[in-house]
Amino acid sequence: MPTDSDRTNRTEHATDTGDLPTDAFRKYGHEMIDWIAKYLDEPASYPVLSQSRPGDTIAALPGSAPTRGEDMADILADFERVIMPGITHWNNPSFFAYFAISASIPGILGELLAAALDTNAMLWKSSPSATELEVVVLEWLRKALGISTPWFGVINDTASISTMLALVAAREAANLGVREKGLSGRDDVPVLRVYCSEHAHSSVDKGAITVGYGHENVVHISTDDQFRMRPEALAEAIAEDRKRGFRPVAVVATIGTTSTTSIDPVPAIADICEREGIWLHVDGAYGGSAGLVPELRHYLDGADRADSMVVNPHKWMFTPVDCSVFWVRDRALLKRAFSLVPEYLVTAQTGEVVDLMDYGVQLGRRFRALKLWMVIRSFGTDGLAARIREHVRIAQEFASWIEAEPGWQIMAPHPFSLVCFRYSPPGLDEAQINALNQQIMDVVNASGEAFLSHTKLRGKFVLRLAVGNIRTEEKHVARVWEMLREACAR
Ligand code: PLP
Repeated sequence: MPTDSDRTNRTEHATDTGDLPTDAFRKYGHEMIDWIAKYLDEPASYPVLSQSRPGDTIAALPGSAPTRGEDMADILADFERVIMPGITHWNNPSFFAYFAISASIPGILGELLAAALDTNAMLWKSSPSATELEVVVLEWLRKALGISTPWFGVINDTASISTMLALVAAREAANLGVREKGLSGRDDVPVLRVYCSEHAHSSVDKGAITVGYGHENVVHISTDDQFRMRPEALAEAIAEDRKRGFRPVAVVATIGTTSTTSIDPVPAIADICEREGIWLHVDGAYGGSAGLVPELRHYLDGADRADSMVVNPHKWMFTPVDCSVFWVRDRALLKRAFSLVPEYLVTAQTGEVVDLMDYGVQLGRRFRALKLWMVIRSFGTDGLAARIREHVRIAQEFASWIEAEPGWQIMAPHPFSLVCFRYSPPGLDEAQINALNQQIMDVVNASGEAFLSHTKLRGKFVLRLAVGNIRTEEKHVARVWEMLREACAR
């Protein structure tokens, strides 16, 4: 370790500003790019699922910040020594948990440039091309997904935030004066209701909790045998609520639910929303990307009738976290919900240009459009579609292996690249089957070679294999299948 006098004498902090000189940036920048290239080339050199125990990283770090600047070489050495063991490698091709994601190389380069520019696209003026690139790229994407409605889009960090904003916009559309008067102390506002399927992502509930609908007012509509929202149950719930004097405000339909990737019947739900005058938000955080593939595009049918939609390029469009696209049909309405311009943010162009701060809660925003633009340009929409198509093919192949193997069961339809399955040998009761599958998952995950996650479907513990990383090939799925069979033979 360097001594204090080494530190004082070192040349790294030689500039007057205290920042590293650009020569050091070149040196460490090149080293880091080499490190990243090696890391991406050799994913198997780290366990996919971190083997770190709770508190390990905290224990390996000093309790207080250094008072003197430290050498980048030491910082990078500690990155390898202390930080890397606690990293779960979402970039590993054998990452099959949750929804697998990818930092593609154009995306990583986009992040690097965005970090260096450090621009803040809160106002058009504060970076005109950051704003205008966002507008153009989201138009490209809308068209590439086959959405014909002329929506307006913004990029948020996550689908959770996009959905929360949709719930606020829906309430604004209901003209209840909530923006001005709030909700408390009012007897002129009925109970406001939000509907989604029992398989919708928890972000719908969280959004409703955050913006004041109240968790009790999120109505979870029952699903059919394929885990899709039952439109007749939705219609009944709405009618029942109206009878009680409640006000239905928003329905969230999902294309690609988290547990199983089920697809709610959006056209039938859109009919109900149009008839009832209720905002329709479509959560296509994962499944929306399938619109890039012509033969999968039909899964998005009806989405263009929605009032808003979210699609996460950071899930299945090879763009590094974070990048969530939020589109609305009525740009003016979204602006009415959120725009608030203090004097210090007034510009000569206010009202004439898109100022991104007007379309959500946050003022400052990262230049996320840059990486998305670089990803789309580098792959081309055909290239993106080819990867997604291949992921679907690999997942379907895996499902066929499960189907052909005695004792193994497919647990849900698998239209995209996620397969829900379990091992269910004869002679065991449900509790034993659940415990056995938990054990199989734990054995695979402890190996460090692959990472799977689980869900529960109608009380049954189910394993999930999600193909979504850009580097995943059929051989990786074949290997985890071998591991699963070995684990159940133990
Ligand atoms: N919606 C669906 C269907 C999801 O699967 C997820 C996360 O997996 C989300 C929303 C939340 O995404 P985010 O992490 O971007 O908030």
